[in-house]
Amino acid sequence: MKVLRDPSEMHTLRDALRGQDKTVGLVPTMGYLHEGHNSLLKAAREECDVVVMSLFVNPTQFRPGEDLSTYPRDEERDLAIAESSGVDYVYAPQPDGIYPAGFATKVEVEGLTEVLCGSETSRGPGHFAGVTTIVAKLLNAVDPDYAYFGQKDAQQATVIRRMAEDLEFRTEIVILPTVRERDGLAMSSRNAYLSPEARERATAIWSSLLETESVFAEDGLDAALEAGRRRLEQAGITPEYFEARYPGTLDPADGNGPDPILVAVAAKVDGTRLIDNILIEPKSLKRSDR
Ligand code: AMP
Repeated sequence: MKVLRDPSEMHTLRDALRGQDKTVGLVPTMGYLHEGHNSLLKAAREECDVVVMSLFVNPTQFRPGEDLSTYPRDEERDLAIAESSGVDYVYAPQPDGIYPAGFATKVEVEGLTEVLCGSETSRGPGHFAGVTTIVAKLLNAVDPDYAYFGQKDAQQATVIRRMAEDLEFRTEIVILPTVRERDGLAMSSRNAYLSPEARERATAIWSSLLETESVFAEDGLDAALEAGRRRLEQAGITPEYFEARYPGTLDPADGNGPDPILVAVAAKVDGTRLIDNILIEPKSLKRSDR
């Protein structure tokens, strides 16, 4: 496994791979790897000749006052995990390699980025402009055939799909299911911040989504959302949002049609911001995210 630190090294590698007619898979990460990341790396390893994992804590997707400076980092451990997962190249640039002096471009997806995590009462639309700008740069630098993302960040997946289509990136965007701890908590690098007490309470996030799913089957969407929010309240958690939307457009869902519904939640547990979601399919009343 090789570690590339500079965009120019990545470009040289890509030119060489193009000559060899190899399929390339990219797994973008901010590091502090867990089984969620690993599931993406495994899929890339199975489907592509060459696997590139990017490792970059992207400063432009953090708002002032968020956890950029304390975001968990352990490069040595990440490189060891990447190597044992069969990664061929880790692309780990420095911030000034990605955003050199004079950098002035932003890639912005409208509409989809203004709700849920993008609303002003959450992380704000600037968060997604940071995400789409870095992902566009990674897609240009690595030019992968496939790029892998997690359903855990459902809105991010929708926004990236939109961007890739709108800007004619020829990379296939692959979204894989959320990997969970045994008690249901979605794996996240930020789980490392949780005290044992907060970790225990955080399990209410997934229970609240399961509760929503089961009440929806019996009593409809409004009652289901109410029940899910109540479950969070009982654990002393006040969500930033707890909403039902259609996954492709992120328009508010009414739950009356046959289309799958995304129920998404963001909540701070003892100061740690966690997100999760569930996809409910009204027709069969079967969840596809298990
Ligand atoms: P991050 O390092 O948190 O930016 O995440 C890198 C990628 O891993 C993103 O595409 C995430 O959606 C994905 N990811 C994070 N947590 C999980 C999880 N628990 N299950 C599946 N994918 C995940």
